[in-house]
Amino acid sequence: MILLLAAVLEIQHLANAGILLRCGDDAAIVDGAFNEGVSSYAVLSAQQRHALESAAPPFTNIRLLLATHQHKDHFDAPTLQRHLQSNPRAIAGGPPQVALQLHGPNVWSLQPGDTRQTAGINVRVFRVPHNEPHDKTIENNVYLLTLHGKFVLIWRMPLGLNFESCADNRRRDGY
Ligand SMILES: [Zn+2]
Repeated sequence: MILLLAAVLEIQHLANAGILLRCGDDAAIVDGAFNEGVSSYAVLSAQQRHALESAAPPFTNIRLLLATHQHKDHFDAPTLQRHLQSNPRAIAGGPPQVALQLHGPNVWSLQPGDTRQTAGINVRVFRVPHNEPHDKTIENNVYLLTLHGKFVLIWRMPLGLNFESCADNRRRDGY
């Protein structure tokens, strides 16, 4: 008898824009590896951050850690680097402004149009402008993630960057 079990995608909100995705034996983090963040924005507790840095539960089997952009409420290089040291199977990725702050063989510098694969996770990369009023030179990626071929997520700005009406976002806090 062959028993086929459909993999279930679990999504856990971490803090601010950070999420933990888990499907089967593979997990990914997007915008969750950061430290002090930005004033008034949610951050991981010290315990959560320590678990993330040491690849302890719930941050086990992490195969991919992505940052959409380099702002410190989405990304912290030492935090992410510590996870890579704890978990050699993980790959860290982000736009060049993020990747240049990381080192080691498991770093992806992700440009628009790139497609990458690791374990059961596929990534396709897009680029959209960061919300105003920031410097327009901020490289801000959007990721199309497929976990085990069954689930697709489009990750966008945490404050809901609206492709139809970007102007609406200008009144919001720009992070
Ligand atoms: Zn930002």
